Amino acid sequence: MSTDPAIELPFYYGSISRSDAEQHLKLAGMDDGLFLLRQCLRSLGGYVLSVVWNLEFHHYPIEKQLNGTYCIAGGKPHCGPAELCEFYSKDPDGLVCVLRKPCLRSPDTPIKPGVFDNLRENMLREYVKQTWNLEGEAMEQAIISQAPQLEKLIATTAHEKMGWYHGKINRQEGERRLYSGVQPDGKFLIRDKEVSGTFALSMMYGKTVYHYQILQDKSGKYFMPEGTKFDTIWQLVEYLRMKADGLVTVLGEACLNGKPDEKKPAPPATRRQNGYSPPPKALALPMDCDGFNPYHNPNEVRKFNIKRSQLLIDEVELGSGNFGCVKKGVFKTESGQVDVAIKVLKSENENLVKEEMMREAEIMHQLDNPYIVRMLGLCNAESLMLVMEMASAGPLHKFLSTNKNTVTVENIVELMHQVSLGMKYLEEKNFVHRDLAARNVLLVSQKFAKISDFGLSKALGADDNYYKARSSGKWPLKWYAPECIKFYKFSSKSDVWSFGVTMWEAFSYGGKPYKKMKGTDVTRYIDEGNRLECPPACPEKMYTLMMECWTYKYEDRPDFKKVEESMRSYHYSLSNKAKAEEAAAAAKPVK
Ligand code: ADP
Ligand code: MG
Repeated sequence: MSTDPAIELPFYYGSISRSDAEQHLKLAGMDDGLFLLRQCLRSLGGYVLSVVWNLEFHHYPIEKQLNGTYCIAGGKPHCGPAELCEFYSKDPDGLVCVLRKPCLRSPDTPIKPGVFDNLRENMLREYVKQTWNLEGEAMEQAIISQAPQLEKLIATTAHEKMGWYHGKINRQEGERRLYSGVQPDGKFLIRDKEVSGTFALSMMYGKTVYHYQILQDKSGKYFMPEGTKFDTIWQLVEYLRMKADGLVTVLGEACLNGKPDEKKPAPPATRRQNGYSPPPKALALPMDCDGFNPYHNPNEVRKFNIKRSQLLIDEVELGSGNFGCVKKGVFKTESGQVDVAIKVLKSENENLVKEEMMREAEIMHQLDNPYIVRMLGLCNAESLMLVMEMASAGPLHKFLSTNKNTVTVENIVELMHQVSLGMKYLEEKNFVHRDLAARNVLLVSQKFAKISDFGLSKALGADDNYYKARSSGKWPLKWYAPECIKFYKFSSKSDVWSFGVTMWEAFSYGGKPYKKMKGTDVTRYIDEGNRLECPPACPEKMYTLMMECWTYKYEDRPDFKKVEESMRSYHYSLSNKAKAEEAAAAAKPVK
């Protein structure tokens, strides 16, 4: 997630108020062109440039545009706050004067963190940890894959963790709480109004309680009548602490909601005692689904040896292969029942196949990632059975071809980003999958993908970066890179090639790659320099990435670290675009 790009600048003060800025400029001598930079309290990611000219102060808001550039209203865009200040130190371009002399922060004036900045990252972590019981690397991955939605969620619910937030209480109860104890001017609380989704501010002034309604515009921004608009309630409160903005006075001491562990703005590490309450439906994230349950108690549920009595096996077949079939079932544990998928070996199968399944289980047992199907254990009874968490929405290609009309391109981008995260994890752990294809990407829900089928996978030795097959077998040639077919060499780079084909399948809504060709013809086709064409609905950026995955020489092909970065930045850019469109639609004047 982003850190503040202005943090390096010696004339940057962070989240200080306008009057504080003016104070600093006064102390520094009020020369013409003296300037400093501070954080804008109104727009997330924006700044204010404060400049002295002719013994007067001028404050210029700098907006962060949705494409990531920064500009002063009416001015040219710049790639960062440093570049912007540099530009205006040469050319006034509409300012009262050029920036002449930076007002430097003294060593005893640290950058003042914005309340939101300061806690946002920790809150994200805490949210993910509490909600999905994730830790460490898996938690970081969940955050990366869902950052845009998570940030929005945190922005809209962060106030619930603040001491001044009292939830749904009426006006009288608000007054009762404010009158109890000391009654200084500015003592305040925020409460939910009866009409859900709207907030009110109650504050003390001259021993009397005043109530204000907090308004919300169509794009969801909060504001006081005639006042400045903010993305979050939290920012509004922080702003009103510095500026009255129409209130009788600025906000002062918070009237605390009295829960013992929320005395101060609750440090994010504090566990909420009342436990987790799921977000409203509209805000639900990919992981807020029943299918996520197997992950909740990883230690309890992951048992390598499963007793037959703990399994209920359904007659319903989820899929089949030459090994046998995959059946739906239920796994009973002390903490409850879990839906599972059970790979059952055909009983007539010989030891060879048994060994293969044991090897698959051994690989899966070593993997621990939200975007990889989790194995819960093996059960050796009427036949050998591999018990996995259930991905009930089934294989990606089937899902997409039956839901063509309802699945958006953004949705596909999000899913493929998750697949790239899972593959990056495999690459880091030195595993090669060798059968990555849309048929082996299973969906827990429309928004949550997991890589499965480790039947061909290999763990590489610490010093190896490829696996050499002794002979070719029943291979998915259309998904294989040239070096696999020619030299039997398998690496994470050859998985990258398969990832490209998987992307192609996804963006063609479950289409068959190289439709009419035989596997052997495809090899020649590729050697001649041909590649799959761009599917009709596929965004250009995604096709460019596929083409990179199909770089002939594996040395020149990107690795999953690189692929994931590309998927991530495209995924985030679409989320930002969606946000911008939402805001634009809401801002349209209505008659
Ligand atoms: P194969 O080696 O034969 O390809 P897979 O592991 O891919 O075996 O499983 C075959 C099919 O069984 C899949 O295509 C899918 O439809 C179903 N299946 C496998 N694992 C799961 C699971 N964890 N959840 C739901 N369905 C599954
Ligand atoms: Mg398969």
